[in-house]
Amino acid sequence: MIFRRTGLPPAGPAIVAEHLAVWPSLSRDEQERLLAITDELLARKNWEAAKGFALDDVVRVVIAAQAALLVLELDTDHYRLVSGIIVHPSTLQATGLAAGPSTGTVQADRLAVLGLAQGGRGPIALAWDQSLAGAYRSERGHNVVLHEFAHKLDMLGGDVNGTPLLPRDVQADWKRVCTGVYRDLERGIPRFPMRWYGATNPGEFFAVATEVFFEQPVELQENEPELYDVLQRFYRQDPAARELAA
Ligand SMILES: [Zn+2]
Repeated sequence: MIFRRTGLPPAGPAIVAEHLAVWPSLSRDEQERLLAITDELLARKNWEAAKGFALDDVVRVVIAAQAALLVLELDTDHYRLVSGIIVHPSTLQATGLAAGPSTGTVQADRLAVLGLAQGGRGPIALAWDQSLAGAYRSERGHNVVLHEFAHKLDMLGGDVNGTPLLPRDVQADWKRVCTGVYRDLERGIPRFPMRWYGATNPGEFFAVATEVFFEQPVELQENEPELYDVLQRFYRQDPAARELAA
């Protein structure tokens, strides 16, 4: 079957404005870029519904726009390992998926995952209800779309090891800062607002740090200024300034 891939629908900008909590804090320039990247992701990636679910414009646009936020100041080529996005209505059942904290999964409990980023050029699977909750910021610091797409950025460097493709001048600071925070979490020493899940492995550390950077930026900058700094230098965004100005 041949089907035409479609980009941002006419209602796209209104859908983004209605569902993305971050939207009003973006500058006009950033809003335009976010929509352009959303359009590109919708047109170029395979969007599939899991069995028993159907994709509509709201589902596709709300997910693509959150993914676009992550690479707002990076080239969309950073998503070249994302072949497609498979959307499930709700928490993914673990049947057929590796149980346990395997690479790329966010677990709600042992039997369910909220999202999954498959290795290599594999797709990303997402639970729609969780993706929408992330857009609304219904649970502070949590965003499954940012989390799973961050894993794909991580994979660009080869292994999922918590290190995306970094500019040369960030590499040494990145390693020193992330290792310090990660080792503390491993030892049970809290590093608010980082979550314990970040101590699962370095890949999860980067994914959780990404969620926190975009979703609790002011808290992160206040409590972990060095971690905020290296993330800011990688993503080339300053979400804390955005939030404080909003
Ligand atoms: Zn993960």
